[in-house]
Amino acid sequence: MDDKELYRQILGVVSPWEIKQIDLQMDQDQVDIYLEWPYLQDGKCPVCGKDCKIHDRRTERVWRHLDTCQLKTFIHCRIPRVKCSEHGVKTMSVPWVEDMSRFTRQFERIAIMFLEGSSNRSKTAKALRLSWDEMNHIMEKAVKRGLSRRKDEPIKYIGMDEKSFLKGHNYATVMTDIEGKRVVDVAQDRKTESVDKLYDSLTKKQKDGIEAVSMDFWKAYITGAEKHIPDAAIVHDRFHIMKYMNDSVDKVRKKENKYLMSSL
Ligand SMILES: [Zn+2]
Repeated sequence: MDDKELYRQILGVVSPWEIKQIDLQMDQDQVDIYLEWPYLQDGKCPVCGKDCKIHDRRTERVWRHLDTCQLKTFIHCRIPRVKCSEHGVKTMSVPWVEDMSRFTRQFERIAIMFLEGSSNRSKTAKALRLSWDEMNHIMEKAVKRGLSRRKDEPIKYIGMDEKSFLKGHNYATVMTDIEGKRVVDVAQDRKTESVDKLYDSLTKKQKDGIEAVSMDFWKAYITGAEKHIPDAAIVHDRFHIMKYMNDSVDKVRKKENKYLMSSL
């Protein structure tokens, strides 16, 4: 098996894509692989999928792929543009990458798996031989993908909770999907406008699907729920009710104690 065939199988390069050239740079722990769409082969329009003549090729782009052995692996390609009779000149889609990423899909997937398994981002970046910026770029893309997927997911029960920060002098509002056990969004305070913004981050379909909202005793949370999800039940959880009750009992106890002490 020659080295091109070996890499074709490792990378899963599907015909008619072919490997034109492989440059091995052992001193830099790096291998560069040049992929090419054959010159006489028709391409596919990315919009309608029709076979079209190749119009030209874009300037070369480079993507970081998964390492092969210990070697950093880069894919190079001049992606062809097709000329579709219906859609005009379009850049073909390529199977190893989405949008304008500098990494292949497989590389991004592995990077996210590493991130999920580690609490230390700089160690993860080092293990993957990525810069801090590159690591963040991959992470932000994954978060964006996750958030856009979420827009389609129904939420049955939400939580609106205040969380104190800066020694308890400030309160942020955290909106959670209780069943999904995840944070939906966070606001930096607990003002009415911020509560509105949190509800606005949900789609109309998601709001309509909410059956109940659990919340802290706070006026903006109550009016927010009445305004944005009028059909949902408002629930104050046992923890907060108990907290208020204990505080009240404590106040009464202190008062009684003062009274009893003074009457001795
Ligand atoms: Zn087309």
